[in-house]
Amino acid sequence: ATKFKIYILDPYHPDAIDLALKTRNAEIILPGDPRTANWHADADGLMIRSDSTLTEEDFAKALRLKVVVKQGVGVDNIDLAGAKKHGIAVHNTPAFNSESVAELSLTLTLALSRRVTEIDRAVRGGTTVIRSQVLGTSMFRKTVGIVGMGNIGRIIGQKWTGAFECSLVAYDPYAPSDAWGEIAHSRTTQLHDLLGVADVVTLHVPLVDSTRKLIGAPEIKAMKKTAFLINCSRGGVVDENALLDALVNKQIGGAALDTTEIEPPTLITYKKFLEHENVIITPHIGGSTQENQSRNGCFVVESLFKALEG
Ligand code: NAD
Repeated sequence: ATKFKIYILDPYHPDAIDLALKTRNAEIILPGDPRTANWHADADGLMIRSDSTLTEEDFAKALRLKVVVKQGVGVDNIDLAGAKKHGIAVHNTPAFNSESVAELSLTLTLALSRRVTEIDRAVRGGTTVIRSQVLGTSMFRKTVGIVGMGNIGRIIGQKWTGAFECSLVAYDPYAPSDAWGEIAHSRTTQLHDLLGVADVVTLHVPLVDSTRKLIGAPEIKAMKKTAFLINCSRGGVVDENALLDALVNKQIGGAALDTTEIEPPTLITYKKFLEHENVIITPHIGGSTQENQSRNGCFVVESLFKALEG
């Protein structure tokens, strides 16, 4: 039987690695193996996440490559037109991450509204926190603004309306009308309508040309001065310089970034943001739950072999 060569270029959950290694008709080259530098030479299949970038040049060089599977939904790190040109199939795993990302968006919102990270830092720093000086904001019956009503946006809408009795305002010019389901909501065709009323603005659009810097200076200005901005989509969706200006000028209640223009974020690259107590930065952990990484990673392995053997 043919032996497929599969390169795993980004870190995968041990369950997914085990499943891949158990497959007899394949040789699996794991992340960190020096041979990964030369994957172009003989890869039949690639497993990636959002750490690797694949360009047309990569596809042109990879003469044996048939299929790339990306764990996760966003494929902005892959030149799709380039892959198509060279006859290489690209698969992703839509909807797998959704519950985990939705949970993170709520977590970050509540952490900001209750000032959890700020207060925890004070306690760790030895400060006796005076409770009356660290009052938070309740999210009960507040207005949640969701930009991008796809898989993740819709789950978030259900959670805020169901658990916190929030009203919802959502913006998504492309979502089919049945996508809104039974969620109580007010739909808007204008992003600025949403921005003016939302107590939290949470972003769930893909990074494409029409969403690049979708949230810039005018959009942040249109937000309530007390509102929180949550970005669990892609760094490029927010104009981070404009956001920093808004933080400095106290035009925004706070911001949480799980996805940043520069990844991974570090103390050096995000120093100016991290000087603000009302900022939370996490390194693209939206999908990082045990449950999701295991299921999602195993699905990638199965899709890859299906595509190769298919
Ligand atoms: P999805 O495709 O189900 O939904 C995306 C929605 O955005 C669609 O309904 C689409 O109509 C809408 N949209 C597209 N362009 C828009 C625009 N200009 N304005 C408003 N809405 C627009 O995708 P999803 O599963 O909900 O994921 C959304 C994005 O979240 C992904 O593309 C990915 O980049 C990001 N993501 C991040 C993490 C993380 O770890 N933080 C994990 C998963 C996904």
